Amino acid sequence: MKTQELYLNDSYLKEMEAKILEVQPEANGRYRLLLDKTVFYPMGGGQPTDQGKFTSASWSADVYQVMMKDGEIWHCVNSPTPPAAGLTVHGAMNWDRRYKNMRFHSAGHVVDFAVFLLGYSPKTLIPLKGDHGKKPYIVYQGVLGKDIRGELENKSNELVEKDLKFSWFFQPFADLEKEAIYLQSGLPTNKPLRTLKLETVGAVADGGTQVRSTKEVGKITIVSVEQKDGNTIIKYLL
Ligand SMILES: [Zn+2]
Repeated sequence: MKTQELYLNDSYLKEMEAKILEVQPEANGRYRLLLDKTVFYPMGGGQPTDQGKFTSASWSADVYQVMMKDGEIWHCVNSPTPPAAGLTVHGAMNWDRRYKNMRFHSAGHVVDFAVFLLGYSPKTLIPLKGDHGKKPYIVYQGVLGKDIRGELENKSNELVEKDLKFSWFFQPFADLEKEAIYLQSGLPTNKPLRTLKLETVGAVADGGTQVRSTKEVGKITIVSVEQKDGNTIIKYLL
């Protein structure tokens, strides 16, 4: 990858000075740009895209979407004219949007850690995926013979009240394996993996941006715990 992913180390970075490496035309007035570094999170892993602005003395644009494609991070922008490759731009993200996405993403992990602490995963309920956008939910393969909505909400908010610290870092697969509460299938074993760790509870492999502690997530509401086609879908809100 040509772009240094600044958001992986510091999810609270809101701005950057970056050099444009490549410009590709999209539709009318739309271009996609490759930069040498970025604070913008490309949508993925259930976390929505960042948005914001690029400015320089000679050129500016709105960043409406950032995505990972063919192993590179592309910043999709609206502008009447394309920028020149080699130009350095100031990038500022829409922080309110990102911060909300971070809180919802971390909330999904708090709920997931709570499901684990209650003893329902990873054996009975096998973690599949989550979506932390407008209608956030997490999905497990498998079903329980009872309604856990109330106890799950209590356990999740118990973790919030404890103000437990999240930390994130890269480590070899073998080390992640030792502290992970579960490992998703298909994880690469030949390169360092990004780990999300919740103090006193455990770790999971994760690529998104997170808040620093469970208290920052805020009070969690478990909207419903539904069963569908052999899966359990947990919907939550903040
Ligand atoms: Zn995640």
